[in-house]
Amino acid sequence: MTQEELFKKLVAHCKEYGFVFPSSEIYDGLGAVYDYGQNGVELKNNIKRYWWDSMVKLHENIVGIDAAIFMHPKTWEASGHVGAFNDPLIDNKDSKKRYRADVLIEDWLAKQDEKIQKEVDKARKRFGEAFDEEQYRATSPRVAEIAAKRDAVHARFAEALNASDLAELRQIILDCEIVCPISGTRNWTEVRQFNLMFSTQMGSTAEGANTIYLRPETAQGIFVNFLNVQKTGRMKLPFGIAQIGKAFRNEIVARQFIFRMREFEQMEMQFFVKPGTEMHWWNEWKNTRMAWHRALGFGDDNYRFHDHDKLAHYANAATDVEYNFPFGFKEVEGIHSRTDFDLGNHQKFSGKKIQYFDPESGESFVPYVVETSIGVDRMFLQVMSAAYCEEKLENGDERVVLRIPAALAPTKVAVMPLVKKDGLPEKAREIIDNLKYDFVVTYDEKDSIGKRYRRQDAVGTPFCVTVDHQTLEDGTVTVRHRDTMAQERIAIEALHAMVDEECSFRKLFRKLNL
Ligand code: ATP
Repeated sequence: MTQEELFKKLVAHCKEYGFVFPSSEIYDGLGAVYDYGQNGVELKNNIKRYWWDSMVKLHENIVGIDAAIFMHPKTWEASGHVGAFNDPLIDNKDSKKRYRADVLIEDWLAKQDEKIQKEVDKARKRFGEAFDEEQYRATSPRVAEIAAKRDAVHARFAEALNASDLAELRQIILDCEIVCPISGTRNWTEVRQFNLMFSTQMGSTAEGANTIYLRPETAQGIFVNFLNVQKTGRMKLPFGIAQIGKAFRNEIVARQFIFRMREFEQMEMQFFVKPGTEMHWWNEWKNTRMAWHRALGFGDDNYRFHDHDKLAHYANAATDVEYNFPFGFKEVEGIHSRTDFDLGNHQKFSGKKIQYFDPESGESFVPYVVETSIGVDRMFLQVMSAAYCEEKLENGDERVVLRIPAALAPTKVAVMPLVKKDGLPEKAREIIDNLKYDFVVTYDEKDSIGKRYRRQDAVGTPFCVTVDHQTLEDGTVTVRHRDTMAQERIAIEALHAMVDEECSFRKLFRKLNL
């Protein structure tokens, strides 16, 4: 199965099993807007809890807030979003399809890396055991040729982005002979800037109406509350403010399911530090955040850092955590050193002093900020991509199983009476009553046990508990484990503790060493 087929199956699975639906589907949906179903919302809530607790519970110096989506319009002038929150777009005149010019070039660069990898793989086959990859990469003329071309384009691209040179971006697309995937032609328009913010009106009359924006990031709600939180919480530098909430971007190209949405959710943490210490904290947060991702057990090799070619208008250092999605390595999270740009500008635009008094040095200053910013929906897609697995079983059957880490799984336990009589359903209900205050538990009595297992595998339930006639005699049940399919007989009294240990966030948190 190709990665593309796998991804298609994953999208279909998300819909079929109540994880993600297209928004307002009965009206044929709305571009790049999605709804989460009964299983999706549980997984999403668990992802948010994993993030929130790791930030707010496990760090004494991080607190949370929940700011409004609507903010005073000046916020977005101060933040630079009115002037500079643009993407360069380009249209293909034949297909009439619109693309992000930077993404077309980035995809071309990634293709060159793939070409090099193919050369290396071919050579490995040819040379067998004696193959020395490092030496081959350093000496192969073919690899050198592709790499030189790639590096030259990369350098031009970075320069064009930093200078916002739209003509040069177009020229690179022409020089690299990039074609529209739909029409296959190189008939491109000029490159234009497109502001990504959604606007609406506030106020009851048209005259009194005031243009306001749907926030394109949650971070600004934190910056405008810096003093409120610092003063009321008596916070001392360094300290952080965390927030989870919706953000909105009028993305030019909505692709890849929930990877790029127009309405999405962010989990952001702004860490306020003394000027001059920001690089230290930026590195610290890179490590902390990478450990958070890796603790989920999706394979360390599936993550990498990608430093930005173009620093945003507010940043002096920026990197992305990328995950190896079925469509390649893509950003899940950004870790940015935002300097004093935001607080400094809010001070300027509001006329209010936004400073921190350092009791040790007796000085007041505008703190610097290191931010970690991750999309809930992209994280959701990461979990689903890593978890989705099609397996052939020993008896020739096939199963689809979601190997979701137990702490994140939508449902923890499915309780199943072997038959619908002889008091077994009542016993099963009793077991559920004993678990339901602490875990999401489901009851299932329809079809054969085998079919019921398959249903639970497909939504990632870690444990199936079967109640049979022996249960009534000795108070034991059969517990069947999702990943290994192993079965064991355990006492009903021992169930709660077992589920609690296996499905708790503790297991993940211990790996973080916080
Ligand atoms: P991209 O380059 O993919 O457009 P970005 O660099 O603009 O992303 P940031 O502004 O750094 O993204 O936002 C932080 C995080 O918010 C991203 O890492 C991503 O997880 C999430 N995010 C941003 N835009 C979207 C979107 N349109 N849909 C879903 N998640 C998003």
